[in-house]
Amino acid sequence: MAFGDPNHILKETALISRFLEYVRMDTQSSESSETCPSTQKQLVLAKKLVGELRELGLSDANLDENGYVTGTLPGNRRGGQTIGFLAHLDTSPACSGEGVKPLIHESYDGKAISLIEGVVIRPEENPQLASCVGDTIITADGTTLLGADDKAGIAEILAAVEYLVKHPELPRPTIKVGFTPDEEIGKGAAKFPIETFGADVAFTLDGGFDGEINLETFNADSAFVTMTGVSTHPGTAKNKLVNALRYMAIFLEKLPKEQAPETTEGREGFIHPYDLSGDASRCKAHLILRDFEKDKLEALGQKIRDIADAVAQLEPRLKIDVEIRHSYPNMHEFLMDKPEIAQRLNEAVRLCGLTPRVEPIRGGTDGANLSRMGLPCPNIFAGGVNFHGPTEWISTRSMGLAVCTILNLIDAYA
Ligand SMILES: [Zn+2]
Repeated sequence: MAFGDPNHILKETALISRFLEYVRMDTQSSESSETCPSTQKQLVLAKKLVGELRELGLSDANLDENGYVTGTLPGNRRGGQTIGFLAHLDTSPACSGEGVKPLIHESYDGKAISLIEGVVIRPEENPQLASCVGDTIITADGTTLLGADDKAGIAEILAAVEYLVKHPELPRPTIKVGFTPDEEIGKGAAKFPIETFGADVAFTLDGGFDGEINLETFNADSAFVTMTGVSTHPGTAKNKLVNALRYMAIFLEKLPKEQAPETTEGREGFIHPYDLSGDASRCKAHLILRDFEKDKLEALGQKIRDIADAVAQLEPRLKIDVEIRHSYPNMHEFLMDKPEIAQRLNEAVRLCGLTPRVEPIRGGTDGANLSRMGLPCPNIFAGGVNFHGPTEWISTRSMGLAVCTILNLIDAYA
């Protein structure tokens, strides 16, 4: 049985009313927090979701001490794989998520959508709008983000569960659902209860517009370059002072300009000086290194070491220390030997009448770290556009199609 009619899903489930409730709840995460979850307000939504899962009959629905929500919809087929669906509770620290007022624009007419504060969503900057004429589009009011990233994902997973509960005759494997805190600050997978979750394969519903699927992320490293000079009173510094800041400036200037985020796209990697702190005696730069290929990422690390060596040659009294730390791997590495996952995902999208757009993510996802931890976890479109800003929008048709994709995948795994 193939699902491809978003209107059927919109009619049969509480997809949109759930979504509108979730986006009104402020769940912004915080980079400066040391706790898990990083903000207590994420727990308010987490507790609500446990209640909704239990109402749908997922009696084991649970919120753990770190803010992770999990639940099980038992299968009605013997054997087979257990399949998980994940979405994240938090919204980005980059834009306010407080007091979100969702606006519903029915029968979209193809023109620009004006919000308050002079915020306009223009078709020329949003080519996706062309395929949304006639749709119902949801935006915020222009003062906050919408939070479709990733409350659309949460609402879509719950709608799929709701649909299956209403239709017990549909074949399904055991299904696990999980809602994670702190994805936007890169910690969503950190304390994920992967053992008790017990899925063989999982999918995050955290991608963009219709048909997008992501099987690849960057490989990511961080480099920390520390320079220690010789500090003296500047009045008597002649031939004694070694100013670490001056040498750091030389180091930064020597970084390849053609391998920077501002000059690369597609599958090209980069080195990005990200943070700088210190003074004339000692300073430290934090750089991020990204590439889709492991050996190319290693080459970027070597390039940093080589440039640091060249700077060290200029002044023997200067001390330079380079430390490279691994951040996350390209999840492709863990999906390569399981081609059936990508095949089924492509087919699930195709059955919706969409052409799958397999795009490498120029960033990371929780799925990258979960894949490394042993749970293969590609990413599926949730429908939203313009994440992390006041022009974020989503079409309810896209949301219905995301639910269809989930149901098609479940059918494939059954
Ligand atoms: Zn997201």
